[in-house]
Amino acid sequence: MTKYKDLNVPHRTIMTPGPVEVDPRVLRAMATPILGQFDPAFTNIMNETMEMLRSLFQTENKWAYPIDGTSRSGIEAVLCSIITPGDRVLVPIFGRFGYLLTEICQRYGAEVTTLEAPWGEVFDPEVIINKIHEVSPKIVAIVHAETSTGCMQPLKEIGEACRNADVLLIVDAVASIGGVDLKVDELKLDAVIGGTQKCLSIPSGLAPITYNHRIEEILLKRKSIELGLRSFQSEPSNDRIISNYFDLAQLQDYWSPVRLNHHTEATSMQYALREGLRIVLEEGLENRFARHKLNERALVAGIKAMGLHLFGDEKHKLPVVTCIEVPNGIDSDEVRSMLLEDFEIEIASSFGPLHGKIWRIGTMGYSSRKKNILHVLAALEATLIRKGFNVNKGESVQAAMNVYDENKQQQNIETVVIGS
Ligand SMILES: *Cc1c(COP(=O)(O)O)cnc(C)c1O
Repeated sequence: MTKYKDLNVPHRTIMTPGPVEVDPRVLRAMATPILGQFDPAFTNIMNETMEMLRSLFQTENKWAYPIDGTSRSGIEAVLCSIITPGDRVLVPIFGRFGYLLTEICQRYGAEVTTLEAPWGEVFDPEVIINKIHEVSPKIVAIVHAETSTGCMQPLKEIGEACRNADVLLIVDAVASIGGVDLKVDELKLDAVIGGTQKCLSIPSGLAPITYNHRIEEILLKRKSIELGLRSFQSEPSNDRIISNYFDLAQLQDYWSPVRLNHHTEATSMQYALREGLRIVLEEGLENRFARHKLNERALVAGIKAMGLHLFGDEKHKLPVVTCIEVPNGIDSDEVRSMLLEDFEIEIASSFGPLHGKIWRIGTMGYSSRKKNILHVLAALEATLIRKGFNVNKGESVQAAMNVYDENKQQQNIETVVIGS
């Protein structure tokens, strides 16, 4: 006998910007028996996963595979594999995750120039393009969807400008991939990092990445320097990739038919990713993006009808994260605690300058459901009344339901038109 009881966790409604609720199909896939990582039954799964990742990223890139580790491991793998100490990198920052990009680049010896936009805003592409011409960086590293502020940076002009100036554009799309349209090739993005625990609704622990031949050329060059030197010199070249675990030149050999051994693959996570991607492709990317937008619209209508205000530039709002200003006199954390304790709903606070000032509600992946939207609105209204805030009673859920009804009518009209 042991004093430790059976694992028994509460069933939460998770409405944060990650981790979010996991589709039960993914959880079931994770209970599948382990395979050896060179077993053809397993390498076939790896190949299928690469194919599905190319669809997810909307790319023809040869390379699309996951790094073992949380999303930031994918960011670190891409950056450390292309940065040689002394390289110039430009990082435009408009929230917390821009600082993460900056820090990783600095740790690998890059000379980083930053640009900062106020939290809640994004950059006018011109500002970034002018800076590119001023600093002539080798790399621009930028976040697509800033989970900390709920803002989304338009990338089209930046992609164009980087390609014309022969600059590599690296994009953190951890929070947007699978929930918001991001056409990697069309936007001329050289490397993109996704996340699993956000819009893909898989547990945290893998970081899907993709990169093109421009990145691959750098990897192969650094690898050949290392291999060339090894035979006659024991000192490593100073251009070799510093990290072993995150060395993309080695990792891509493991994900290629060569199957060179690197780490021991986390097979259960690979099962989860495969099933999660299958769900995404079954739903269809367009349908999936439309679902995320519909649930966002319902949530926003409900929040506004309640008498609350959104935070940030609505024109560049990220559809999968909704930031709400905490009303004067209301304690942000007390509201979150009550939502969790009484309603079993988790919403998020924010970081740094925004902590206590905004709430963030995530509507990502499997958590982006009508049921969840209606629950969180009803619970937030009840909680705010309890805390003494003067809400427009009874308006919020009705406003959200109107959005769903209008959408249904719209769809019926479309069906009739198509059918006739
Ligand atoms: C969540 C997130 C990350 C970090 O992801 P981890 O899985 O916690 O490493 C990085 N960038 C963005 C934009 C994110 O939203």
